[in-house]
Amino acid sequence: MSKFIFVTGGVTSSLGKGIISASLAKLLQARGLKVTIQKFDPYINVDPGTLNPYEHGECYVTDDGAETDLDLGHYERFLNISTSQANNVTTGRIYQTVINKERQGAYLGKTVQIIPHITDEIKRRIKLLETNGDYDVVITELGGTVGDIESLPYLESLRQMKRELKKKDCLVIHLTLIPYLKAAGEHKTKPTQHSVKELQMAGIIPDILVCRTESHITDEIKEKLALFCNVEKEHVIEAIDADTIYRVPVLMQEEKLDQIVIDKLELTPKHSPNMERWVEFLTKYKNPKHEVNIVLVGKYNELPDAYKSIHEAFVHAGAENECKVNVIPIHSENLEDTYLPLEIHKIHGVLVAPGFGDRGIEGKIHAIQYVREKGIPFFGICLGMQCAVVEHFRNVVGLDDVSSTEVNSETKNPVIGLMPDQANISNKGGTMRLGAYQCDLKEGSIAMDAYNSEHISERHRHRYEFNNDYLEEMEAHGLKAVGTNPDTGLVEIVEREDHPFFIGVQYHPELKSRVEEPHPLFIAFVEAAVQYKKAKEMVNSL
Ligand code: GLN
Repeated sequence: MSKFIFVTGGVTSSLGKGIISASLAKLLQARGLKVTIQKFDPYINVDPGTLNPYEHGECYVTDDGAETDLDLGHYERFLNISTSQANNVTTGRIYQTVINKERQGAYLGKTVQIIPHITDEIKRRIKLLETNGDYDVVITELGGTVGDIESLPYLESLRQMKRELKKKDCLVIHLTLIPYLKAAGEHKTKPTQHSVKELQMAGIIPDILVCRTESHITDEIKEKLALFCNVEKEHVIEAIDADTIYRVPVLMQEEKLDQIVIDKLELTPKHSPNMERWVEFLTKYKNPKHEVNIVLVGKYNELPDAYKSIHEAFVHAGAENECKVNVIPIHSENLEDTYLPLEIHKIHGVLVAPGFGDRGIEGKIHAIQYVREKGIPFFGICLGMQCAVVEHFRNVVGLDDVSSTEVNSETKNPVIGLMPDQANISNKGGTMRLGAYQCDLKEGSIAMDAYNSEHISERHRHRYEFNNDYLEEMEAHGLKAVGTNPDTGLVEIVEREDHPFFIGVQYHPELKSRVEEPHPLFIAFVEAAVQYKKAKEMVNSL
């Protein structure tokens, strides 16, 4: 039987429940326990797939093709495990399931209500992970902030589960904020007292308080929190701001969060904590020997969370190369009439980001023309790869009126077109080509060198694809298809043979980069940027 840990949030959003949950999971995993994490999102969208990235950041895709919250990315990156549809549930999905059952007559004439029907469905989804996975611990993160109307059914389900389970089988961690008031010269506990009171009104007493703070809190403050919030003083944990999210597990270990959880839940760790690889990564990350600038050409640059997994993949691959990677976001809309606005010697690589729609497309194509002509390392992801194909046909092959049909449905040369099975789809949610697909690699390619394998599996999220009618012409002019799907022949990877490092992939490699397993293509790209910078510096010094 699994033990259950619930993580709630108080006072304000953005306190980092996902990181605290993932850090605790990491520490338990480091002791040989089998752990998984799940997130409940209190919005009505059935999944985040239809959300604009400006709303909640990137949409994270799992192997089984679920479009999920970006916190699942943290879970995978920290734990080095693959999550699935069951790891992210929204209010929309809960209600959809209950309403569908009602339509099928499954409630036998009963009035369908929040309690017990919605709460039962929430509890079923929590327990589903236990049945599916044989886990020692299931950590459930409740999205939103205690006190929100949307959170109420989740808190009620939590209350019921606490009541149904034995004390040693379940605990609640409340993540809260302890602000420092400069004028008063002290930390303030009142917001936390209020949010815990709110929890208590829902019938829940938290077992552990994790306190986000910008500076160390005193013993006195901990005592005050313990007294007013009805928790043991030893269970008031400080979570001080960290220089990187990857330090949080180490900080939580110093605060003994894992030990408190183990004692409370009477868990039996398999061995003492093994954080060797994690600490090795942190050491490399903090002591780089090289430094490169990578331009990220995208259109959601105002919100870095929109490209979360790309940023994190650079952190992992940077550490692997002992290299500090400065990711410089540039808005593609600003590149339509100009080349990259940086001085060329400051650019060591360019990544053209995924995206949808026609906004900023011409800027992306323009940036690709520049890096192709100048020999700067290039990495195109999904839409970035499609733009590389369009650029090739326009400027290298020399065809006129070349486009993707996503941008111009009337184009004379649709080198990128809608996948045939997408033609009759009108529903937007969950209908793209989603999740893991196989890809076969060609000998001698950058990709095969990087992966060191002929067969790979990567995650997808797109509706358009390379139009194979143009394959021969594309390859005859130097852009090679070096990765294809074995079942459909769909082109998954293109590379230039007349360029030191130019690769475009139809899939999303960033989704599979982890701290303890950085993605091979990101490693290769950063390495190429380091080499490019060295070569440039050598030429300049002659
Ligand atoms: N808009 C493109 C498509 O749907 C690319 C999608 C993406 O970059 N994820 O095919």
